[in-house]
Amino acid sequence: MAWSFTVLGGGQEIGANSYLLKIHGVSLLLDAGLHPKKYGQESLPEYGTITEELEAIFISHAHLDHVGSLPLINRQQPQAPIFATIPTKDIALRMLHNTVTVMNIFREEKGYLEYPFFEHGDLRPLEGEIIGLEFNPGIYASAAAKQVHSERVRLRGNIQARFISSGHILGSAGLLLRQGKRNLYYTGDISVKDQALISGAVLPEGKIDFLILECTYANDPEYYSRNRPKEIESFAGEASRILSAGGCVLIPAFALGKTQELLFILHRLIRRGQIPPVPLYISGLGKNITEIYQEHRRYLRPQASTLSFELFSVLGFLDDLSVESLLRDPCLIVATNGMMVENTPSARLARRMVQEERHGIFFCGYIDPDTLGYRVFHSQPGEALTFSPQEEPVMVKNPNIKRFYLSSHADRYELLEIARIVRPRITVLVHGVKEGMEFLKEELGKESQVFFGEKGKTIPLE
Ligand SMILES: [Zn+2]
Ligand SMILES: [Zn+2]
Repeated sequence: MAWSFTVLGGGQEIGANSYLLKIHGVSLLLDAGLHPKKYGQESLPEYGTITEELEAIFISHAHLDHVGSLPLINRQQPQAPIFATIPTKDIALRMLHNTVTVMNIFREEKGYLEYPFFEHGDLRPLEGEIIGLEFNPGIYASAAAKQVHSERVRLRGNIQARFISSGHILGSAGLLLRQGKRNLYYTGDISVKDQALISGAVLPEGKIDFLILECTYANDPEYYSRNRPKEIESFAGEASRILSAGGCVLIPAFALGKTQELLFILHRLIRRGQIPPVPLYISGLGKNITEIYQEHRRYLRPQASTLSFELFSVLGFLDDLSVESLLRDPCLIVATNGMMVENTPSARLARRMVQEERHGIFFCGYIDPDTLGYRVFHSQPGEALTFSPQEEPVMVKNPNIKRFYLSSHADRYELLEIARIVRPRITVLVHGVKEGMEFLKEELGKESQVFFGEKGKTIPLE
């Protein structure tokens, strides 16, 4: 088997994404994630199955499901250089420092004694070990194709690697690997359409033999990325109605990517008079990441220059009293976590906000079926809802729990389009649920040999 692909995590779920790629006896690791909903050992990719020395590690972007366990694999494989784009390197380190803090809280509050998996001190050497590559984020996507790739990395066994912009968040990139006449394209998380701050993905030109395709939204027939302007308009209408009547609007969002997009969109809606000029709050990690967005403005769309710190205030500690006073007057709150994992600021605020009719809770990103966010989104007035096992259930009264599709991923039709443009001989589907993969396989089965990524399974690429 000259080429093979093994899923260590994140095959048929949004999990601890990490994939082992072997090319003529040379082993590479694509991504090193941490599971967003699992804890302890269960949240890690199966690094134990790697028995050989890795030649290199590539990180597609800095969301934790792609980078959260990097210090662990770095400890296990210190010889392997780590490659990422320049912004991904900076954001990843910030996200990992935050992960140390979160793990310490879990150790104290929930008794996970194996936490923290790594300390702040472990991240300092990593700073020197991640090699940040310059890349073109596709703002000038119409320029000659060679300009949209990162610098080229040459590895043992005549393997070459380059990043190519994936349009998902600041710094995000897919990976192009070449050995002999064979080419592989790993999309990472991908958005084809432009978002407010990030230009859409650039797809590789030329022959691709093997495609590793994310499929976050493959199972959602209601999401069309082209409806984004309409979604923003109805968001503005609903938010306006609630704010004008004295309510507050909570938007659960991930600190990296979605928070910055929303800041820009909300500010623009206020400036244009589409929503009333109310105070805007974001959570602390969101502020830190926004700083990195500002530092790396050259990788963003030119309009991102209006992203400013005067636009928002940072949420403080959220106990019952401060939540109460925050929600007294109309405001917009963009709070982590996007899927409303227990005890995060978005969950603490939502617990109070579901109990009052005047507020709104607007989901704008991916909602995993077994998260608190999913249960909140599907709750009905008159229903009792449990926010955490330690607390009494609360009675839902809020009729304004809504969803708007402002996603930073390709929709299912665009995923098909990507495969049809790239025309690989073999397509491996990862980072999504099985039902969605079945939809894509049904559509693509005649054009390409389609495999479903599955944890622990090795797929020959021949
Ligand atoms: Zn992502
Ligand atoms: Zn992801």
